[in-house]
Amino acid sequence: MSDPIPASPAPERPSLSLLERGDERLTLKAGKILDIADPEFQAFIDMLIQAGNDNLGVGIAAPQVGKSLRLFIMAPKPNPRYPDAPEGEPLAVINPVILAASGEKEIGWEGCLSVPGYRAQVARHSVVDVAFTDRSGRHLTGRFEGFMARLFQHEFDHLEGILYPERLEQGNTLITLAEYTAITGIEVPR
Ligand code: ZN
Repeated sequence: MSDPIPASPAPERPSLSLLERGDERLTLKAGKILDIADPEFQAFIDMLIQAGNDNLGVGIAAPQVGKSLRLFIMAPKPNPRYPDAPEGEPLAVINPVILAASGEKEIGWEGCLSVPGYRAQVARHSVVDVAFTDRSGRHLTGRFEGFMARLFQHEFDHLEGILYPERLEQGNTLITLAEYTAITGIEVPR
């Protein structure tokens, strides 16, 4: 009988770490993606989806993990951070453009994986018409409203080097999660 084979450690999934507000890289304008079919880029998309999921994000942008590329993931689903989010398959949004935005804006709560521990009310266009390329290279146009319009604008801002605290107006301020829970009755983990 041969010696028992030691159990091999579980294969390590490469994990992307999140940059936080104050890191210069979050203020850069991200660069256009030229080769969408590149297997390395495709693998990065999967890692970014995973990182968003691991951190209970409903969206995550490449600059948040230190890649200055015009890519973000929209992955809405109800979770402890956003209990009222709609549910949708993760969508990789590449080289997006905002074609038109409604004059009307809506105020709504936002948080950000790069601004942990805070929430604020941010005004966003209620409706945006957008164009982007998906991970299979298809050029798509569409209209987003409500939660999805807010999500698109928040993630798009990351590609421009803008974080939501820079979008506060009309006396809105960052509040802590404890204050957020006191106001809304919603408990959030981060
Ligand atoms: Zn964010």
